[in-house]
Amino acid sequence: MLPDRTTIIVYHAIGYCPTDRDAHNLFVTTDSFSRQMKMLAKKRTVVTLNDALKKGSSRGKPRVAITFDDAYRSVLSVAAPILREYGFPATVFAPTGWLGKRNEWDAPTGCDVAIMSREELRKAEAIGLTVESHGHLHIDYAAASAPEAKEDLLQSARILEEVIGREPRYFAYPFGHHSPLSAKEAAASGLEAAFTIDRPHEGAHAYGRVQITPLDGSLIFRAKTSGFYSSIRFSKPFQLGYSLVKGPVRWLLSRRRLAASGRADEHARDRGREF
Ligand SMILES: [Zn+2]
Repeated sequence: MLPDRTTIIVYHAIGYCPTDRDAHNLFVTTDSFSRQMKMLAKKRTVVTLNDALKKGSSRGKPRVAITFDDAYRSVLSVAAPILREYGFPATVFAPTGWLGKRNEWDAPTGCDVAIMSREELRKAEAIGLTVESHGHLHIDYAAASAPEAKEDLLQSARILEEVIGREPRYFAYPFGHHSPLSAKEAAASGLEAAFTIDRPHEGAHAYGRVQITPLDGSLIFRAKTSGFYSSIRFSKPFQLGYSLVKGPVRWLLSRRRLAASGRADEHARDRGREF
Protein backbone atom coordinates (compact mmCIF):
# COMPACT_ATOMS: atom_id res chain seq x y z
CA MET A 1 0.00 0.00 0.00
CA LEU A 2 1.37 3.42 -0.89
CA PRO A 3 1.62 5.59 2.21
CA ASP A 4 -0.24 8.80 2.90
CA ARG A 5 -2.63 9.54 0.07
CA THR A 6 0.06 9.18 -2.57
CA THR A 7 -0.83 8.20 -6.13
CA ILE A 8 1.41 7.32 -9.04
CA ILE A 9 -0.42 8.22 -12.23
CA VAL A 10 0.43 6.92 -15.69
CA TYR A 11 -0.11 8.48 -19.10
CA HIS A 12 0.86 7.17 -22.52
CA ALA A 13 0.72 9.58 -25.50
CA ILE A 14 -0.35 13.23 -25.34
CA GLY A 15 -2.28 14.59 -28.33
CA TYR A 16 -5.34 13.89 -30.42
CA CYS A 17 -6.47 10.52 -31.73
CA PRO A 18 -10.10 9.94 -32.79
CA THR A 19 -11.99 7.81 -30.27
CA ASP A 20 -12.79 5.03 -32.69
CA ARG A 21 -9.09 4.57 -33.43
CA ASP A 22 -7.80 4.78 -29.85
CA ALA A 23 -8.96 1.38 -28.63
CA HIS A 24 -6.47 1.32 -25.74
CA ASN A 25 -7.22 4.86 -24.54
CA LEU A 26 -3.60 5.91 -25.03
CA PHE A 27 -4.17 9.53 -26.07
CA VAL A 28 -4.96 12.30 -23.59
CA THR A 29 -5.44 15.56 -25.50
CA THR A 30 -3.05 18.44 -24.95
CA ASP A 31 -5.91 20.57 -23.56
CA SER A 32 -6.92 17.91 -21.03
CA PHE A 33 -3.30 17.36 -20.02
CA SER A 34 -2.81 21.13 -19.50
CA ARG A 35 -5.97 21.36 -17.40
CA GLN A 36 -4.93 18.36 -15.33
CA MET A 37 -1.48 19.84 -14.62
CA LYS A 38 -3.12 23.12 -13.60
CA MET A 39 -5.35 21.22 -11.17
CA LEU A 40 -2.35 19.34 -9.74
CA ALA A 41 -0.51 22.63 -9.21
CA LYS A 42 -3.44 23.95 -7.14
CA LYS A 43 -4.70 20.93 -5.26
CA ARG A 44 -1.91 18.34 -5.09
CA THR A 45 1.79 18.11 -4.30
CA VAL A 46 3.66 16.65 -7.27
CA VAL A 47 6.67 14.59 -6.21
CA THR A 48 9.31 12.47 -7.94
CA LEU A 49 8.66 8.77 -8.33
CA ASN A 50 11.46 8.19 -5.86
CA ASP A 51 9.78 10.37 -3.23
CA ALA A 52 6.37 8.81 -3.89
CA LEU A 53 7.77 5.51 -2.64
CA LYS A 54 8.90 7.06 0.65
CA LYS A 55 6.59 7.70 3.53
CA GLY A 56 5.18 11.22 3.51
CA SER A 57 2.87 13.05 5.84
CA SER A 58 -0.81 12.18 6.06
CA ARG A 59 -1.52 15.91 6.45
CA GLY A 60 -1.48 18.45 3.67
CA LYS A 61 -2.29 17.94 0.04
CA PRO A 62 -2.35 14.44 -1.51
CA ARG A 63 0.89 13.60 -3.30
CA VAL A 64 1.08 12.61 -6.96
CA ALA A 65 3.95 11.26 -9.04
CA ILE A 66 3.63 11.53 -12.83
CA THR A 67 4.81 8.73 -15.14
CA PHE A 68 4.57 8.00 -18.88
CA ASP A 69 4.78 4.53 -20.45
CA ASP A 70 6.25 3.75 -23.91
CA ALA A 71 8.35 6.96 -24.24
CA TYR A 72 6.23 8.44 -27.02
CA ARG A 73 7.80 11.39 -28.79
CA SER A 74 4.75 13.49 -27.83
CA VAL A 75 5.90 13.30 -24.21
CA LEU A 76 9.04 15.19 -25.18
CA SER A 77 7.44 17.58 -27.66
CA VAL A 78 4.08 18.28 -25.98
CA ALA A 79 4.05 17.17 -22.32
CA ALA A 80 7.57 18.24 -21.32
CA PRO A 81 7.07 21.99 -21.99
CA ILE A 82 3.83 21.92 -19.95
CA LEU A 83 5.49 20.03 -17.08
CA ARG A 84 8.30 22.55 -17.19
CA GLU A 85 5.87 25.45 -16.80
CA TYR A 86 4.89 24.02 -13.42
CA GLY A 87 8.31 22.66 -12.47
CA PHE A 88 6.85 19.13 -12.20
CA PRO A 89 9.15 16.11 -12.19
CA ALA A 90 8.09 13.07 -14.25
CA THR A 91 9.38 9.62 -15.15
CA VAL A 92 9.37 8.08 -18.63
CA PHE A 93 9.43 4.28 -18.97
CA ALA A 94 11.11 3.42 -22.28
CA PRO A 95 10.99 0.09 -24.18
CA THR A 96 14.61 -0.03 -25.33
CA GLY A 97 14.08 -2.35 -28.32
CA TRP A 98 11.70 0.19 -29.91
CA LEU A 99 13.69 3.40 -29.65
CA GLY A 100 13.31 5.55 -32.79
CA LYS A 101 10.48 3.29 -34.05
CA ARG A 102 6.72 3.24 -33.59
CA ASN A 103 4.38 1.24 -31.39
CA GLU A 104 3.76 -1.91 -33.43
CA TRP A 105 2.66 -4.14 -30.55
CA ASP A 106 -0.84 -2.65 -30.84
CA ALA A 107 -2.86 -2.71 -34.08
CA PRO A 108 -2.06 0.32 -36.32
CA THR A 109 -4.35 3.31 -35.71
CA GLY A 110 -2.95 6.05 -37.96
CA CYS A 111 -2.33 8.16 -34.83
CA ASP A 112 1.10 9.38 -33.80
CA VAL A 113 2.74 6.57 -31.85
CA ALA A 114 6.36 7.47 -32.64
CA ILE A 115 8.76 6.47 -29.87
CA MET A 116 11.74 8.57 -28.83
CA SER A 117 15.13 7.78 -30.33
CA ARG A 118 18.26 7.36 -28.23
CA GLU A 119 19.12 11.00 -28.87
CA GLU A 120 15.65 12.12 -27.81
CA LEU A 121 15.83 10.04 -24.62
CA ARG A 122 19.07 11.81 -23.75
CA LYS A 123 17.36 15.13 -24.47
CA ALA A 124 14.46 14.09 -22.20
CA GLU A 125 16.92 13.44 -19.37
CA ALA A 126 18.75 16.70 -20.07
CA ILE A 127 15.54 18.72 -19.63
CA GLY A 128 14.67 17.01 -16.35
CA LEU A 129 12.60 13.92 -17.17
CA THR A 130 13.87 10.71 -15.58
CA VAL A 131 14.16 7.74 -17.94
CA GLU A 132 13.54 4.25 -16.55
CA SER A 133 12.88 0.77 -18.00
CA HIS A 134 9.77 -0.47 -19.79
CA GLY A 135 11.63 -3.66 -20.73
CA HIS A 136 13.24 -4.27 -24.10
CA LEU A 137 10.75 -5.75 -26.62
CA HIS A 138 7.49 -4.76 -24.87
CA ILE A 139 6.69 -8.42 -24.16
CA ASP A 140 3.83 -9.54 -21.94
CA TYR A 141 5.47 -10.25 -18.57
CA ALA A 142 2.30 -11.91 -17.28
CA ALA A 143 2.84 -14.65 -19.89
CA ALA A 144 6.66 -14.66 -20.13
CA SER A 145 8.77 -17.51 -18.75
CA ALA A 146 11.39 -16.67 -16.11
CA PRO A 147 14.30 -16.83 -18.64
CA GLU A 148 12.36 -14.61 -21.10
CA ALA A 149 11.65 -12.01 -18.42
CA LYS A 150 15.24 -12.12 -17.18
CA GLU A 151 16.69 -11.68 -20.68
CA ASP A 152 14.33 -8.81 -21.55
CA LEU A 153 15.21 -6.98 -18.30
CA LEU A 154 18.91 -7.54 -18.89
CA GLN A 155 18.80 -6.18 -22.45
CA SER A 156 16.85 -3.15 -21.32
CA ALA A 157 19.29 -2.36 -18.49
CA ARG A 158 22.28 -2.78 -20.85
CA ILE A 159 20.86 -0.37 -23.46
CA LEU A 160 19.72 2.20 -20.92
CA GLU A 161 23.23 2.23 -19.50
CA GLU A 162 24.57 2.91 -23.01
CA VAL A 163 22.03 5.64 -23.71
CA ILE A 164 21.77 7.54 -20.41
CA GLY A 165 24.85 6.32 -18.58
CA ARG A 166 23.21 4.44 -15.73
CA GLU A 167 21.20 1.30 -15.12
CA PRO A 168 17.48 1.68 -14.35
CA ARG A 169 16.21 1.68 -10.77
CA TYR A 170 12.58 1.26 -11.76
CA PHE A 171 10.60 -0.80 -14.24
CA ALA A 172 7.04 -0.58 -15.59
CA TYR A 173 5.50 -3.85 -16.82
CA PRO A 174 4.48 -3.58 -20.50
CA PHE A 175 0.64 -3.74 -20.78
CA GLY A 176 0.58 -2.91 -17.06
CA HIS A 177 0.46 -6.46 -15.74
CA HIS A 178 2.83 -9.03 -14.31
CA SER A 179 3.01 -12.55 -12.90
CA PRO A 180 4.52 -13.63 -9.56
CA LEU A 181 7.32 -15.16 -11.65
CA SER A 182 8.14 -11.92 -13.46
CA ALA A 183 7.95 -9.91 -10.21
CA LYS A 184 10.54 -12.30 -8.80
CA GLU A 185 12.78 -11.75 -11.83
CA ALA A 186 12.40 -7.96 -11.55
CA ALA A 187 13.46 -8.14 -7.89
CA ALA A 188 16.36 -10.49 -8.65
CA SER A 189 17.65 -8.18 -11.38
CA GLY A 190 18.27 -5.48 -8.77
CA LEU A 191 15.39 -3.14 -9.69
CA GLU A 192 14.17 -1.26 -6.63
CA ALA A 193 10.52 -1.27 -7.68
CA ALA A 194 8.31 -2.38 -10.57
CA PHE A 195 4.92 -0.91 -11.50
CA THR A 196 1.63 -2.28 -12.78
CA ILE A 197 -1.47 -0.36 -13.98
CA ASP A 198 -4.93 -0.30 -12.39
CA ARG A 199 -4.19 -3.18 -10.05
CA PRO A 200 -3.95 -3.33 -6.25
CA HIS A 201 -0.51 -2.85 -4.72
CA GLU A 202 1.27 -6.14 -4.26
CA GLY A 203 4.63 -5.15 -2.85
CA ALA A 204 7.67 -3.30 -4.19
CA HIS A 205 7.76 -5.25 -7.45
CA ALA A 206 4.06 -4.92 -8.24
CA TYR A 207 3.20 -1.36 -7.24
CA GLY A 208 -0.14 -0.24 -8.56
CA ARG A 209 -0.39 2.93 -10.65
CA VAL A 210 -3.57 4.66 -11.78
CA GLN A 211 -4.01 5.22 -15.50
CA ILE A 212 -5.31 8.58 -16.71
CA THR A 213 -7.39 8.02 -19.84
CA PRO A 214 -9.13 10.22 -22.43
CA LEU A 215 -12.41 9.30 -20.72
CA ASP A 216 -11.49 11.08 -17.49
CA GLY A 217 -13.28 14.37 -16.90
CA SER A 218 -12.12 16.75 -14.15
CA LEU A 219 -14.12 15.02 -11.41
CA ILE A 220 -12.70 11.60 -12.24
CA PHE A 221 -9.20 13.08 -12.45
CA ARG A 222 -9.65 14.58 -8.99
CA ALA A 223 -10.88 11.25 -7.65
CA LYS A 224 -8.03 9.35 -9.28
CA THR A 225 -5.43 11.67 -7.70
CA SER A 226 -7.11 11.94 -4.29
CA GLY A 227 -5.02 9.17 -2.75
CA PHE A 228 -8.14 7.14 -1.93
CA TYR A 229 -8.96 5.90 -5.41
CA SER A 230 -7.08 2.57 -5.37
CA SER A 231 -8.22 1.53 -1.90
CA ILE A 232 -11.85 2.20 -2.87
CA ARG A 233 -11.53 0.86 -6.43
CA PHE A 234 -10.18 -2.47 -5.21
CA SER A 235 -12.32 -2.84 -2.09
CA LYS A 236 -14.70 -5.83 -2.07
CA PRO A 237 -17.99 -3.83 -1.97
CA PHE A 238 -16.82 -1.61 -4.84
CA GLN A 239 -15.70 -4.61 -6.89
CA LEU A 240 -19.10 -6.20 -6.46
CA GLY A 241 -20.97 -3.00 -7.40
CA TYR A 242 -18.56 -2.33 -10.25
CA SER A 243 -19.10 -5.75 -11.80
CA LEU A 244 -22.85 -4.99 -11.89
CA VAL A 245 -22.66 -1.50 -13.39
CA LYS A 246 -19.53 -1.62 -15.54
CA GLY A 247 -21.32 -2.69 -18.75
CA PRO A 248 -23.85 0.16 -18.78
CA VAL A 249 -21.31 2.71 -17.51
CA ARG A 250 -18.78 1.82 -20.22
CA TRP A 251 -21.51 2.03 -22.84
CA LEU A 252 -22.54 5.50 -21.61
CA LEU A 253 -18.93 6.74 -21.43
CA SER A 254 -18.12 5.48 -24.93
CA ARG A 255 -21.24 7.21 -26.32
CA ARG A 256 -20.30 10.44 -24.57
CA ARG A 257 -16.78 10.18 -25.87
CA LEU A 258 -17.88 9.39 -29.41
CA ALA A 259 -20.14 12.44 -29.37
CA ALA A 260 -17.26 14.61 -28.08
CA SER A 261 -14.92 13.15 -30.67
CA GLY A 262 -17.44 13.89 -33.42
CA ARG A 263 -17.55 17.51 -32.26
CA ALA A 264 -13.73 17.69 -32.26
CA ASP A 265 -13.60 16.23 -35.78
CA GLU A 266 -16.13 18.78 -36.99
CA HIS A 267 -14.16 21.53 -35.33
CA ALA A 268 -10.97 20.37 -37.05
CA ARG A 269 -12.72 20.26 -40.41
CA ASP A 270 -14.12 23.74 -39.85
CA ARG A 271 -10.66 25.04 -39.24
CA GLY A 272 -9.47 23.24 -42.37
CA ARG A 273 -6.55 21.51 -40.73
CA GLU A 274 -5.75 18.03 -39.64
CA PHE A 275 -5.09 17.14 -36.03
ZN1 LIG B 1 3.75 -0.02 -22.83
